[in-house]
Amino acid sequence: MSFTVAIVGRPNVGKSTFFNRLLEQRKAIVDDVSGVTRDRQYGVADWNGKAFNVIDTGGFVAGSEDVFETEIRKQVQIAIDEADALIFMTDTTSGITELDESMRDLLRRTTKPVLLAVNKVDNGDRLLEATEFYSMGIEHIFFISSMTGSGTGELLDAITDMI
Ligand code: GDP
Ligand code: MG
Repeated sequence: MSFTVAIVGRPNVGKSTFFNRLLEQRKAIVDDVSGVTRDRQYGVADWNGKAFNVIDTGGFVAGSEDVFETEIRKQVQIAIDEADALIFMTDTTSGITELDESMRDLLRRTTKPVLLAVNKVDNGDRLLEATEFYSMGIEHIFFISSMTGSGTGELLDAITDMI
């Protein structure tokens, strides 16, 4: 299996929640393969009968915005290098932030597919708010709730369609 998807995004948008949900069905395998490092977690997901590697980035040490910015830039570059496709996760409850915009600009440099996942869209009101993320200018956009699972199937379908 060689297809790898990396989840990037600023802290607290829900990357690890999504990663854990993805890997839930395959815990046994995850335990076998995951090399848990300080800043990244690796796992194997299974969807539509296709398996793919997933990288959860993050695990940042709390610090100033500058520290975040530098660390996030590093994580995004590693993710671009290691992955075949990227899930760029954002959070509708905080709206579009400056960090989201600077990450979006970094991600514009890769020709690899970037899927924008607007997370925490737990209900219909949130879905209305989340439409502001169309202005990020990313073609592939998914409104999801990592908590309820809503919308995550469409995102995973898009990934397995690439494999
Ligand atoms: P990370 O820093 O991007 O890995 O974010 P986490 O996965 O640690 O999640 C940060 C916080 O957001 C936690 O309190 C989660 O429970 C919460 N969270 C994650 N996904 C959702 C979601 O879909 N809806 C809501 N309401 N909260 C979420
Ligand atoms: Mg995390």
